[in-house]
Amino acid sequence: MGAGLGECEILLAPLPGRSAADHGDSEYGPRMSVLRIVLGDQLSLDLSALAGLDPGRDTVLMMEVAEEGSYVAHHKQKIVLVLSAMRHFADELRLRGVSVDYVPLDAPGNSGALTSEVRRAAARHSPDRLVVTEPGEWRVQAMVETWAAVTGRPVEVRPDTRFFASRARFAGWALARRAWRMEHFYREMRREHGILMDGAQPAGGAWNYDAANRKRLPAQTVLPVRRRFPPDATTREVMALVEHTFGHHFGELAEFGWPVTRADALRALDDFIAHGLPAFGDYQDAMKAEAPFLFHALLAPALNLGLLSPTEVCRAAEAAWRSGNAPLNAVEGFVRQILGWREYVRGVYWTLMPEYAERNALQATRKLPAFYWTGKTDMRCLRAAIGATAQYAYAHHIQRLMVTGNFALLAGVAPREIERWYLAVYADAFEWVEMPNTLGMAVFADGGQMASKPYAASGAYIDRMSDYCASCVYDVKQKTGPGSCPFNYLYWAFLIRQRDRLSGNLRLAMPYRTLGTWTRVRETAILAEADSFLEKLDENNP
Ligand SMILES: Cc1cc2nc3c(=O)[nH]c(=O)nc-3n(C[C@H](O)[C@H](O)[C@H](O)COP(=O)(O)OP(=O)(O)OC[C@H]3O[C@@H](n4cnc5c(N)ncnc54)[C@H](O)[C@@H]3O)c2cc1C
Ligand code: SF4
Repeated sequence: MGAGLGECEILLAPLPGRSAADHGDSEYGPRMSVLRIVLGDQLSLDLSALAGLDPGRDTVLMMEVAEEGSYVAHHKQKIVLVLSAMRHFADELRLRGVSVDYVPLDAPGNSGALTSEVRRAAARHSPDRLVVTEPGEWRVQAMVETWAAVTGRPVEVRPDTRFFASRARFAGWALARRAWRMEHFYREMRREHGILMDGAQPAGGAWNYDAANRKRLPAQTVLPVRRRFPPDATTREVMALVEHTFGHHFGELAEFGWPVTRADALRALDDFIAHGLPAFGDYQDAMKAEAPFLFHALLAPALNLGLLSPTEVCRAAEAAWRSGNAPLNAVEGFVRQILGWREYVRGVYWTLMPEYAERNALQATRKLPAFYWTGKTDMRCLRAAIGATAQYAYAHHIQRLMVTGNFALLAGVAPREIERWYLAVYADAFEWVEMPNTLGMAVFADGGQMASKPYAASGAYIDRMSDYCASCVYDVKQKTGPGSCPFNYLYWAFLIRQRDRLSGNLRLAMPYRTLGTWTRVRETAILAEADSFLEKLDENNP
């Protein structure tokens, strides 16, 4: 894949659109030294904090701290991924002659937190100033805001230019509208960045090919063998460290296969474009037991760490279509996930935080069922999704949204309980992308800011899109009574309980019309059945 970042040239060049004077000698003075901080999800050579770097005087600070590994109990693979990718990135910088002050997790004196490590590093290097790219998470931004006081030095926070839309660009779009819809934002982004456009028109004549992207996977479909990346010596060393330090965390390490360098991330992109993308659209919503990856990209971890840029990924997909190697429904569907959803959720996060984190529009209060951590449930769909999560730190979007998310929604799990779970268990989980997906899409805690209706579904949806139900102990066709699929009675009980809040939603008109034909006795029976199931869930979850 030739579509790489311009690597070294970019590293040592000023930011696009700025002169060297903006960040170089004449601004900071000839003997000014800069401590440039690179956080664990900022592993891009074109990071704004590195622009204008002077290898003769500047130091790059990278820190492994226990606090970041444990503020939620992250999946062990996720911690290995971040630390190994950081170590490889530090090596790449050193190869380019950059002086890197790298603080390993087990370094003597490591204070275990970002702010205290920044203070210690400022004392070690006595820089004239600190430079950092704006962090991805609100929590870390609050830390960065203290660094000038803590170090007694000026701190320059630069915008993160690795997205299509800046925070301000999204806020400007959002504040001009009463209702926010991803599709509208996405079309603006397509026009603005000229992706999948033929002049002023969308390629192929339509903006959206979603209707073609909901196929069930035929049983005989031959699935591609997806490229994985066996751990190298650095990753193996980190694995041992993580087992030692975070051994009690969720998840297994045996199947670790994520790319931890830019070179491998580009290989993963190539593999997806060649083997996943052509059928990505058709089977985007399909689920299959024993086949965790299907035609999905498996690129979110590399994108979120900064090993790949969203622009190069979208351009590579577009090029595949233009050269006849992938159909438009697949390519448009894929581009929409990145240029649309990924940018949109980031905008929602930064526009609405910190208040967004506390949303609970449906007043849900249940504790997270214990089986989310153990996988011990006889519901086969949940067992498959949680099993893949433990094994690979991965489950694809529909498993997250329509299995684990749908169950949490129907069972009334408290939004923050399920949100912390998603943040912990996926290799790609970073709060700015995970939180709006969970609170907004999966459990409707934001009351419709992200999605126009809750993604609530009965077992019929899971049966239509998967092969799970055929060998589940429950009968998906049975709506009530012993052996019936819990998703069925939980779905109707959810709609009954939330009638005051949701029955006015036009997109739920059909199920509420159906409910309107039910007798009070029937409603009471469904509620009792759901309650008895949920009580047992709570009993197993002290
Ligand atoms: C409850 C819930 C939690 C989620 N948490 C995360 C998270 O922590 N981190 C994360 O990156 N994605 C998250 N997603 C979105 C999506 O599920 C993952 O991006 C995707 O499954 C990653 O696998 P993939 O790379 O194979 O993606 P594919 O399905 O192949 O999609 C291609 C790319 O599009 C982007 N993308 C797709 N859907 C979304 C979306 N809804 N929001 C943002 N980007 C998207 C990702 O970068 C992904 O790599 C979440 C979705 C849900 C429903
Ligand atoms: S029958 Fe119900 S519980 Fe079992 S796999 Fe299907 S949807 Fe899941």
